[in-house]
Amino acid sequence: MSMSFVMGQKARKQVPLEPGVSLALAEERAARISDLEYDLLFNLPDSKQLPIPAKVTLRFNLFSAKEPLQLDFREEPDHLKSVRVQGKSVPAEFREGHILIPARYLRKGQNEIAVEFIAGDLSLNRNEDYMYTLLVPDRASTVFPCFDQPDLKARYRLALDVPSGWAASANGALEEERLSEGRKRLRFKETKPFSTYVFAFAAGKFQKRTQSRAGREMTMYYRETDEAKVARNADTIFDLHAQAIAWLEAYTQIPFPFDKLDFVLLPGFQYGGMEHIGNIFYREGSLILDETATENQKLGRARLIAHETAHMWFGDMVTMKWFNDVWLKEVFANFFAAKAVNPSFPKINHDLSFLLAHQPTAYSEDRSGGSHPIQQPLENLREAGSLYGGIIYQKAPVVMRQLEALMGEEAFRKGIQEYLKTFAYGNATWDDLVGVLDSYSEEDISGWSLAWVKEPGMPEIRTEWEIGPDGRLSRLALVQEKPAPSGRYWIQSTVVALAYPDTIVHIPVRLESEVTEVPTAKGLPRPLAVLSNASSMSYGYFQLDSISLAYGLLRFGSIADPLLRGAAWLALYEELVRGRVAPQEFLQSVLDALPLETEPLNRQNLLGYLSTVCWRYFESAQREKAAHEIESLLWNLLTNAQDIGGKAAFFSTLSNLSITAESINRLKGAWDGSVPVPGLPLSEAQKISLAAELALRLPDEADAILSRQLEYTQNPDRRKRLEFIRPALSPDTAVRDAFFESLKNPANRATEPWVVDGAGYLNHPVRAGAALKYIRPSLELLEEIQRTGDIFFPRQFITAVLNGHQSREAAEIVREFLREHPNFPYRLRNKVLMAADLLLKK
Ligand SMILES: [Zn+2]
Repeated sequence: MSMSFVMGQKARKQVPLEPGVSLALAEERAARISDLEYDLLFNLPDSKQLPIPAKVTLRFNLFSAKEPLQLDFREEPDHLKSVRVQGKSVPAEFREGHILIPARYLRKGQNEIAVEFIAGDLSLNRNEDYMYTLLVPDRASTVFPCFDQPDLKARYRLALDVPSGWAASANGALEEERLSEGRKRLRFKETKPFSTYVFAFAAGKFQKRTQSRAGREMTMYYRETDEAKVARNADTIFDLHAQAIAWLEAYTQIPFPFDKLDFVLLPGFQYGGMEHIGNIFYREGSLILDETATENQKLGRARLIAHETAHMWFGDMVTMKWFNDVWLKEVFANFFAAKAVNPSFPKINHDLSFLLAHQPTAYSEDRSGGSHPIQQPLENLREAGSLYGGIIYQKAPVVMRQLEALMGEEAFRKGIQEYLKTFAYGNATWDDLVGVLDSYSEEDISGWSLAWVKEPGMPEIRTEWEIGPDGRLSRLALVQEKPAPSGRYWIQSTVVALAYPDTIVHIPVRLESEVTEVPTAKGLPRPLAVLSNASSMSYGYFQLDSISLAYGLLRFGSIADPLLRGAAWLALYEELVRGRVAPQEFLQSVLDALPLETEPLNRQNLLGYLSTVCWRYFESAQREKAAHEIESLLWNLLTNAQDIGGKAAFFSTLSNLSITAESINRLKGAWDGSVPVPGLPLSEAQKISLAAELALRLPDEADAILSRQLEYTQNPDRRKRLEFIRPALSPDTAVRDAFFESLKNPANRATEPWVVDGAGYLNHPVRAGAALKYIRPSLELLEEIQRTGDIFFPRQFITAVLNGHQSREAAEIVREFLREHPNFPYRLRNKVLMAADLLLKK
């Protein structure tokens, strides 16, 4: 819907006034405006109910003053107090989320617009004694009037007027702090130029710790009240930031591009982290880990920190021109995070960890009916949130590794350095990058990028091998089953592994067309099995031939090389998903392999498979039949595990899977302390999730268990969360129904991770039958959730709802909904299809 308007008698070709920031509006403004600056002042009251009076002054250069100018401000009319242009009060039109400045008040050259307004609350995340902004991708304009598009970078001067007991962190360094009459005025230094979506401040009651690393002072703001827990984690958190900075400076040959780096740890933060300039926000629980944290969680934390730090160069300093290329900053951050954390984790098998962190999630989306290209078109910025997902976060980094392999590491690095230097503090597109890389490579990089970046789907590769009369291999070939929609085949490097009784032969192979012959395999002895995805960057469905599949079910767990073992399990799991292996067979292989598995990353992966088979494939009778064997194996492994991470991993799977009375009783003992688990102290957060699992399984005791847990919970944020999710755990259907109804009110969806947890408990497999009725209204709610919630929320919400279901009825409800809504928004439909993939394939 667009509304056009005509100002005065001379109708010029104008960008129509419509909600959001259309591509046309962004292009028009980018062509007219330069040298942009914002002066901002917010008066933050000490109650979250009171309005926030604020002022902004924009200064900029205008190349043409012949047309009116749209300033973005997505708020109600009463939030706009006054508009002054060049110091004179003007009657500005205000509708469709834009303040329209008539052309007659503008001038070619330097302009100044000053606006008094009430800041919009939508993206201010206001809590009782703290608040924070979260403005990606197009939400800066809900807080203050601005040009909300990534390619109008600006310098910012921010001042915050706050209650005297509050602290605040912003993009610039604190320049001045003045106290008067119970209030505090904080003034932050002018920043380097950056895009609106990375503007941020957090203000409120925070604890602070400041530390120096390599001459750089960094401050951590946090809310966690367990000081011992903070103390255990703080040094590592500072170290990891410093290591990430050092790595990126060395790789890019560009010093840290902004003036300072602080970080704010927020309970219930919507994402793992967000890369605001000099002011990274994290979900507190992702950085402050429990004593029992697994190696995987520690690696996850290091990756997260390196990811957000890498963004300072990739995304913050060089920014996409438009959000259709948002994937590029994400792929860079993930790609370089994976490279950068290696020095901090010498004991980790990094190829394996890359493989397990990327391909499984990427496949789960790319094989589904909701698959889409990495680069997607975007007509209006307000749709940008729906671009994000596993295709961007998990597939694109694999593709980037393939690109690096295609070019060679050194040429790739030189290309990246030139790209950063050329576009520093500005904007660039994927095609700009390809242009730079092409000049460093003999290969046709733009041709290569078509199938991988601009088309959906994953390659499907079959292995053909034949044995000659001499009993040796006479032929080995990899066949791509079907090309991408354009008819192109995916070009990729992979490794074929041939298994023999006491050795493995690895053969690197580059796939370029439909059939790739592997002549070096000719003459080798007959292998026991052939795996063609034996590299951390292999991408696709590498179908196991029937001999290798049969061998794999019995023997993949005993392959000596951990990377190859990980790759083998991925291949076998794809066969489960695609129906070539029965769930019972797959489960048996996992149960046989678990006691042998010594690599924590593979172990975690196998434990994940256990949960998937039990909850997403088995019906309750099958589950009951397998329960005893699974539970006693896990208890044994838990008792005998030598490392605390292993114990924690087994314990958490056990609490997730237990269904027999015997095991549930033991868990209850672990929870109330009557049966301590030796070597595994349980943190408050772990006790809360255990209490929730117990409440689901012991309906008669649910109330007592949750009341007691609430009473013992010290941390106020965790207590609030537990109070919130409690009705979702109730044995009383009416209470659960009322909880679900309450989610229809956006105000009750404010803390999204709580809603996701609540929706998960509501649809827990032990109650799946009674929860069928929530599926359809959840799907109906999605469009509204997308409008009112943050960018990952629609997918997380529908995943939480559907994950508990595996029945035919549940699948039919999803199918029927999609049938009846042929015009359901395309990208949202993709998210539903991704979340429902296993359900629909089963
Ligand atoms: Zn990111």
